[in-house]
Amino acid sequence: MNEHPITEPGLVDLHSHTNESDGTFTPAELIAAASAARLSALAITDHDTFSGYDIAKPLAAAAKLQLICGIELNSKLVLKPGTHRSAHVLAYFPGGQAGSAFLEWLQAQRAERRQRNSALAERLQNEGMDVTLEEVERLGRSLAGRPHFAKLLVKKGYATDTEEAFQRFIGEEAPTFVDRQSPTTETVIDVIRGGGGIPVLAHPVRLWLSHDATEERVIQRLAAAGLIGLEVAHSDQDAALQAYYQQLAKKYKLLPSGGSDFHGDLKPDIQLGSGRNGNVQAPRSFLDGLLSANIAVTA
Ligand code: AMP
Ligand code: FE
Ligand code: FE
Ligand code: ZN
Repeated sequence: MNEHPITEPGLVDLHSHTNESDGTFTPAELIAAASAARLSALAITDHDTFSGYDIAKPLAAAAKLQLICGIELNSKLVLKPGTHRSAHVLAYFPGGQAGSAFLEWLQAQRAERRQRNSALAERLQNEGMDVTLEEVERLGRSLAGRPHFAKLLVKKGYATDTEEAFQRFIGEEAPTFVDRQSPTTETVIDVIRGGGGIPVLAHPVRLWLSHDATEERVIQRLAAAGLIGLEVAHSDQDAALQAYYQQLAKKYKLLPSGGSDFHGDLKPDIQLGSGRNGNVQAPRSFLDGLLSANIAVTA
């Protein structure tokens, strides 16, 4: 179990995962950890599923913790023809649920994820590894992802730890990597807004851009496409980067957001509410700003 340091009063964590996606804490454990850390609000943002949020909702009410309905989605950020990056987009639904068009679209995303998982299992089998989709899926709950592949690869002795599994077999640089067929970032932003959600670009550092004019143009372009917020505070962004993204957010009229991206024991150096060595301190004003964002609901 991770330890739960007490955070400053009034801090929020707007990015966290349960074991319904690739976190290791149950929704109940996550709510208990958020209460122990004295968070003023928590958003559950599992990959491609609301199951963790749905389970946590009554538990949060009982614990008198403000819980925000969220999700984290994959997208393809096209930089130029033939070159793209994987971009994660967080969506927050202040009303507690997404519109029906969004939920239908989400089903298709989950089907596509399963397709990818199936192709990835096949790639690994072709390399002589004994890894089936069924075994991987048994390690997950609502959905399986690459962390579940990593767990199986470690369990079967093909890798010594998660990091090695990603490096050698399932990470973006690995020879057996299988990419997802995700919609473009612009489409994902559109679908979120159509479902009554507030789109926020997650951990911009993981776009692997060079914090120069190219990165700035990308942020400007996404703001023009309807993006509402930018994840300024994140465990993978140090103080200098957080200052950089804060300034970009201001320049392009995006709302600053922040969260630890807590995954429990999958990423044991990250603490709920405070990130890596306390590098995430998301003030309540981040949440208040997002909740008052005046978004057009088109669905
Ligand atoms: P998927 O959504 O199934 O493609 O899996 C992506 C998830 O894998 C990310 O959201 C992270 O939680 C996790 N992940 C990606 N790279 C690593 C890594 N090098 N070590 C541990 N977890 C990782
Ligand atoms: Fe994850
Ligand atoms: Fe992410
Ligand atoms: Zn995340």
